[in-house]
Amino acid sequence: MASQVETTVRSPEAYSLAHRVVDAMQEAAVWPTPLNFELWLHYLSAPDSPLSQEMARLLASGAPFTESTAEMLAAEFLPRSRLSEEIRDAGAVLNRELAAVASAIDKARESQANYGDTLAEAADRMAAAPDSASLGVIVSSLSDATRRIRRHTSALERRLESSNREVVKLRDHLEQVRRDAMTDALTNLANRKAFDEQLLRMCDQAETEGSPIGLALIDIDHFKRFNDTWGHQTGDQVLRYVASVLARIARTPRVAARYGGEEFAVIFPGETSGAVEAALNAIREEIGSRALRRRSTNDDLGAVTISVGFAQRRPGETAIQVLERADEALYASKRGGRNQVTNADTAAPAAA
Ligand code: C2E
Repeated sequence: MASQVETTVRSPEAYSLAHRVVDAMQEAAVWPTPLNFELWLHYLSAPDSPLSQEMARLLASGAPFTESTAEMLAAEFLPRSRLSEEIRDAGAVLNRELAAVASAIDKARESQANYGDTLAEAADRMAAAPDSASLGVIVSSLSDATRRIRRHTSALERRLESSNREVVKLRDHLEQVRRDAMTDALTNLANRKAFDEQLLRMCDQAETEGSPIGLALIDIDHFKRFNDTWGHQTGDQVLRYVASVLARIARTPRVAARYGGEEFAVIFPGETSGAVEAALNAIREEIGSRALRRRSTNDDLGAVTISVGFAQRRPGETAIQVLERADEALYASKRGGRNQVTNADTAAPAAA
């Protein structure tokens, strides 16, 4: 998909496409942010791609296209292509550096070979004509050759130092790109892809070590109603608020993530059911304890509450099975009146 878009934006119709992108964003009543621009660019230039199909579905549903919708689409459909572009660019830089180092090494090798020849020649000439005049010529040619080799050696050293700096820069940049690809841009928590990877790894580890691990799913109560009443920008702030409490309480080795629109997830490695439940209740109380204000108008938004379901992994259980039980517990919390934490092991079964 990315290559089709890349080709189009370097083709003669690129400017007319850019105009159509702006018109389409205006028609859809979204801000022309860089991310929206990128999404619409894909939407218009690669209509058959999975991203475009998902966008078509969302737009046809009439649901508002919010900043968080854009973030979720980007997390699901864009980072891989962004990451691979960065990796390809990094590959090009590395190739350039390696070629420059190889050429500096060639020059140094050549000047060493020349130096060897000069030495051998000087030795022959000294054996053949050891008078002081020819000795002077020989010494002068040796010192010229020594200067040349020194010049090439220090050029090689400088080249190696500069390549080393480039490679360190590249490594840091790629590390930043890797972190971005694993992070939800709106809340700065881990994104779903990062979370799923961690969950699989931690469940494997818990199975091997026989250690406990808990998994919680958290949903903001009545988030849609909140969004409809106060607007999506305020909705996004609520997501950031909940995320900020999670980031504070669910610190490493716990892993907190934005799992979907208004859904969050936390892994509690090595913790017993009692400890997990206490932490989740602390999060729930902390979130509900603050009266939020709408930044633009100072309106009182009231408190935000969350519903939580959690499950302790049973021996032999897969990550997906734990997730399913946590999800059922979350729905038990919703059914039970929201603003509560439900343990999957003690939840009442759902009515048939
Ligand atoms: P943010 O707006 O980027 O704010 C980041 C942090 O700056 C906040 O972290 C808080 O420590 C501080 N801060 C910003 N504005 C104010 C303010 O008017 N008064 C005070 N006392 N501190 C302020 P915090 O509290 O963890 O909130 C994280 C994010 O949650 C905020 O990011 C914002 O997006 C959202 N949020 C929190 N409280 C409210 C609220 O009352 N209304 C709205 N609309 N959003 C809120």
